[in-house]
Amino acid sequence: MTSILIVEDEERISGFVSKGLRAAGYSTTVVAEGDEGLAQALSGSHDLVLLDIGLPGIDGFEVLRRLRARDSRLPVILLTARTAVADTVAGLDGGANDYIPKPFRFDELLARVRSRLREAGQVATPALRAGDLSLDLRTRRAEVGGASVDLSAREFALAEEFLRHPEQVLSREQLLSRVWGLDFDPGSNVVDVYVRYLRNKLGADRIETVRGMGYRLRA
Ligand code: CA
Repeated sequence: MTSILIVEDEERISGFVSKGLRAAGYSTTVVAEGDEGLAQALSGSHDLVLLDIGLPGIDGFEVLRRLRARDSRLPVILLTARTAVADTVAGLDGGANDYIPKPFRFDELLARVRSRLREAGQVATPALRAGDLSLDLRTRRAEVGGASVDLSAREFALAEEFLRHPEQVLSREQLLSRVWGLDFDPGSNVVDVYVRYLRNKLGADRIETVRGMGYRLRA
């Protein structure tokens, strides 16, 4: 599961953000203090950091500076006061990937998190593989046994989600959230329909139904 580190000393904000991200299928770790935030960011157990600037101990800029000084490429999104534009520019110069002015709406934050994670994933892993199936994340092309397979954008996104989590059971709610960006079940069987499309195109045995739980990619 993708892990988001939240370094924020205002409990009201960290609580609201953490709750929302968990509902969207991420795991979260909340830290309220700069030094501990840096230690967590360097631990290698997180995929992205939401970093407040005004923190007890070392501030967000210093956390970012030390993180980049250690050659960490962990994506960092700064949470910054809407008035502190100069600070924000300094943050981007200092190696932040993005910033979100406070106050923000949760869906705005979630969209930023998703796109920064997507970029980071593309840099780190241009192709995903499971057995004879491969997805090229740059060209958006799928191949089975070396032969090209035509996938729609949504089919590709769903296949990508499975390949990022091989052998892991993904619930319909997780897939709706990560692939369709829906944090609720619209009461449709859209996930089941698209899994069927993928089975038709990629091979019937590749995606297994785990009764009452969801779906799993056989690696
Ligand atoms: Ca603060």
